[in-house]
Formats: sequence, C-alpha cells, structure tokens
Amino acid sequence: MAMTAERPFTAASFTQFLNEKKLMGSHCIHCDKDFLPPRAICSQCYSDQLEWVEFSGKAKLAAFTSIYIAPTAMIAAGFGRENPYLAGVVELEEGVKISAQILGLDAKKPDQVKIGTPLKVEFVERGEGETKQTALAFRVE
Ligand SMILES: [Zn+2]
Repeated sequence: MAMTAERPFTAASFTQFLNEKKLMGSHCIHCDKDFLPPRAICSQCYSDQLEWVEFSGKAKLAAFTSIYIAPTAMIAAGFGRENPYLAGVVELEEGVKISAQILGLDAKKPDQVKIGTPLKVEFVERGEGETKQTALAFRVE
C-alpha cells in the first residue's frame, strides 16, 4: 500500500493508524526486529531500512498496575479514585511489548489479575470533535 509506505515512522503516524483501527509498528528489513511503537532507526543493527508492519493484536498480560490517581484524559473518561483502571504492559504474539490500558479485568481486585492472561487489541475512542482520539487498549478474550 503506497499510502502506508509513505508515512514516517513517528508517534503521529502510530496515532493516525490507531484512528484507522490498525496496530502498526516498524520492522527492520536488515535484521528482522520489530518495533512497537515504530522506530525509524533499528536499535539492534542501526539500519534505517525499515518497513511498516501490522501486528495481530493478540497478546498476553506481562505486567500491570491499578491506577487510582488518573491523568487528565482518563479523568475525562470517567476514571479516578472511585473508578480505578488497569494500566499494563502486554507482550504481543510477535514478541514485542507495549504499554496500554487493560480492559475486562477488575482494577479494584488486582490480586485476581493474572500475568499471562490472553488479551486482544481494542481501539478505544475518547473525546468528541477536535479532541477525539483513539487510545490503545487490550481486552481479556
Ligand atoms: Zn535491524
């Protein structure tokens, strides 16, 4: 896809893809390493020969924490002291890790949340109009 290939490997492009409901990272053509979010230069072999790659969105929970003191955007989404949410690090089946909100588990009962729980990507739309943004999340399958 020409349009995909033309996008720079930046956070802005990553967000743009999220808006299109695609989980896109970069792949080093030289040494095969994947990066999510995308990098323009490979951290392993320093090659700048990278290409866009779409990730399956299948993942496992690698680490998590319950957030009671929410940042502004999450307070606007209804989270906070009375309604905590789970922030986690997931490991995708392709082997890369990324942090995201975790859905479908009880943030008030972190002792019941298990590392290794299978998850699937979910694109969460927040805000309206100009401030509308798509956030990356993963939900229990
Ligand atoms: Zn490389």
